[in-house]
Amino acid sequence: MTSSFKKTRIAIIGVGAVGSTTAYTLLLRERMDELVLIDANKAKAIGDALDMNHGVPFVGKASVWAGSYKDCRDADIIIITAGVPQHPGESRIDLLKRNVGIFESITDEILKSGTNGIILVASNPVDIMSYFTWRKSGFPFERVIGSGTLLDSARFRYLIGQKLNIDARSIHAHIIGEHGDSELPLWSLANISGANVPLSEEEREDVFINTRDAAYKIIEAKGATYYAIALALDRICTAIVKNEAAVLNVSTLLTDYFDISDVYLGVPCVVDNTGVREKVALQINNHERELLHKSADKLKSLIKSIS
Ligand code: NAD
Repeated sequence: MTSSFKKTRIAIIGVGAVGSTTAYTLLLRERMDELVLIDANKAKAIGDALDMNHGVPFVGKASVWAGSYKDCRDADIIIITAGVPQHPGESRIDLLKRNVGIFESITDEILKSGTNGIILVASNPVDIMSYFTWRKSGFPFERVIGSGTLLDSARFRYLIGQKLNIDARSIHAHIIGEHGDSELPLWSLANISGANVPLSEEEREDVFINTRDAAYKIIEAKGATYYAIALALDRICTAIVKNEAAVLNVSTLLTDYFDISDVYLGVPCVVDNTGVREKVALQINNHERELLHKSADKLKSLIKSIS
C-alpha cells in the first residue's frame, strides 16, 4: 500500500561509535520513517543497517539502509558524526586540522544532493566544524546546527542533581560557549523550580570541573563517548521533526550576541522544524559575559588561523 504522507528521513554520515549509537537511539525511539547510514567504510554501514533492520520487528516500522550522498536529497536532517575520535589526553581543538579536510569534502557531497534539509553537526571540535559547514554550504545559519553544549549541560544538570539528590530533569542549568575547555557554567541562572542551587563555591567548582572534563575521563576509560551524545542528538532531532520549539543549548552563528559575531557557540536556542528559530535572550552577569567573550575569542582565533 502506498501513502501520500511525506516520510521523515534522517541521514547519518559517519557511523562509527557516535553515529551508530545515534542511529540505534533514533530507531528505538521511532523518530523517523527512513534512516540512511553513510560511511567511508561502506561495509560498516551495510553491517549496521542489516543489524538494525533485524530489530525492526521489535520496535515498529522504519526502513534502515546503507546509502549514498544522493539519499541526502530527501532527508529532513543530515547528521554529521564522521571524523576521527579524540585520543586520550588530546584536546578537542587538536582534532581540528584532522577534521576540517574531511568536512570540506562531505559538505560538497551533501550540496550535490540538492537537499533542503537541516544539517546537524556533532563531530569535534563541534563549534568550528559547524561554522565551516555553514560557510561552505551557503545555507542560512538556521539550517546548520551544532550539538553545542547540550551534552555538557546534561552532564552539568546530572552532577548538580547527584550532589543534591534531586532528579536531573528538575535542575535548570546551562553550560554555554565552546563545547570544550573554554565552556562556562551559568551559575547566576541555575535553579531548581525557581529556587537557588544550594551548593558552596567549592562544590560548584567541583561540579563544573567534572562537567568540563567528563569526556577526557570517559575516553581514558573506554576510548570514546557515545551514549549520552546519541541521546543529545536524538533530543535535537525530536525538536526538529516534531516542530517543538524546544529551548536547547545548541551551537549556532552568533551575530551581535553580547557584542559577539561571526562565530558558532553553544547558547540556548529555540529549535523547531526550521532549525534554530531564535536565540534566547539571556541575562548573564559581567563575569559570565567576560568568560563568554574569552570562549568566543579562542574559537575566532582558531577560525582565523585556518581561514
Ligand atoms: P569513530 O572513529 O568511531 O567513527 C567515525 C566514523 O567516521 C568512522 O566510521 C569512519 O569510517 C567515518 N568517516 C571518516 N571519514 C569519513 C568520510 N569522509 N565520510 C564518511 N564517513 C567517514 O569516531 P566516534 O567516536 O564515532 O566520533 C565521531 C566524532 O564525534 C568525533 O569527531 C568525536 O570527537 C565527536 N564527538 C562529539 C561529541 C559532541 O558532544 N559533539 C561527543 C562525542 C564524540
